Amino acid sequence: MSPWQTPEAPSGVRWRFTGRTGGVSQGRYAELNLGQHVGDDRAAVRRNRALLAQSLEVPPDRVAAIDAAHGNDTALVHEGGTVSQVDGLVTRERNLGLLALGADCATVALADPEAQVIGAVHSGWRGVAADVVGSTVRKMKSQGANPDQMVAVIGPAICPGCYEVSEEVRNTVASSVAAAAAETRIGTPAVDLQTGIAAQLREVGIMRYFTDPTCTFESEQLFSYRRDGETGRHGMLIALTETSHE
Ligand SMILES: [Zn+2]
Repeated sequence: MSPWQTPEAPSGVRWRFTGRTGGVSQGRYAELNLGQHVGDDRAAVRRNRALLAQSLEVPPDRVAAIDAAHGNDTALVHEGGTVSQVDGLVTRERNLGLLALGADCATVALADPEAQVIGAVHSGWRGVAADVVGSTVRKMKSQGANPDQMVAVIGPAICPGCYEVSEEVRNTVASSVAAAAAETRIGTPAVDLQTGIAAQLREVGIMRYFTDPTCTFESEQLFSYRRDGETGRHGMLIALTETSHE
């Protein structure tokens, strides 16, 4: 389902970053579109989400999905369903999947395998400017997570070389996290989402993280809103397994 290498999840945790293959959607949404409000057939999206859930042994009705709001609000969840107006989800429930979607925006998996607390984040430039990653980690800490024990994966995103923005947007993001200011390959203003998120992880004390180097805009194996306009969404699903420390 994912054509590239993501580090194995720690004991007691499962995660999966998806690409375009392995689903039932057609045409511009082919194949594994996980986005519900992007114009695709609703039944196909439900089927795709069920396939993803089953691949992590999560019941399809036990998936809590971020309905991205491009801010820094987060929620602690105990059951499946779409969670509106948040960009970060946290849970301590076993076999409850947290789903974050993207099509150029980054998704982030967060886990404290010792405390058994997990998080999922959606972050584009607005999310980086608002530090939604930091907000989500603080919510995890309120549930007993310790950044010293945490691991994170920053999923694929549009790379700075491809991600031209206005000078104003770059300044807005840079005023929050300087490391996210960048230039495109042709020297115009850009945002480096992944480098910004990595800096935000370090800021809250998470030193163990992996960044997926795949650029959504350049890889045909991923959805890219900027490249394709109306298109699907890939995503990241994370869950705590039924038995920890097996
Ligand atoms: Zn790129």
